[in-house]
Amino acid sequence: MRVLLDVDGVLADLVGELCRRFPEMREEQVTEFEFAKCALPVPVRSLYEAMEEPGFAASLAWYPGAKDAVHAILAKGHEVAFCTSPMKTSPTWMWERQEWLRAAFPDLPVIFAQRKQWVAGDVLVDDRVQHCDAFAEAGGKSFLIMRPWKPHSRPLAWELAEGVRVL
Ligand SMILES: [Mg+2]
Repeated sequence: MRVLLDVDGVLADLVGELCRRFPEMREEQVTEFEFAKCALPVPVRSLYEAMEEPGFAASLAWYPGAKDAVHAILAKGHEVAFCTSPMKTSPTWMWERQEWLRAAFPDLPVIFAQRKQWVAGDVLVDDRVQHCDAFAEAGGKSFLIMRPWKPHSRPLAWELAEGVRVL
């Protein structure tokens, strides 16, 4: 199968980096996918300004176990492509994202897509329910990653490993 992997919130710890840059913000305060819907001590505009800065996308950490999960999917004989949304307001985001992924997986394709259901994969692994729903409605299989800072959710690496088993 051809497996499309989202990056932010699935492989890359975007919220963790924001919390590092804004110490007054804590992961458990991010209760919704959209920052604007969360009760955060930092203005949403400030978060986006930080994300748009040169160096932000390059500075993200891989979630523990995420690289291993990618290797495990490959080891099962599946094809893998990274399918990540562009940051249209940043001149550096996409380049940094591509280099970040290439440093770990130089042979895997990187697809920037706002409408992931238009990408011809069999499975989409994503942490945004709208992407998963749209992909499933278009005829694909989707695997929703619950974000680790959601109350009562399981650790992300565990879920990704579970997804690997499902695949
Ligand atoms: Mg994501």
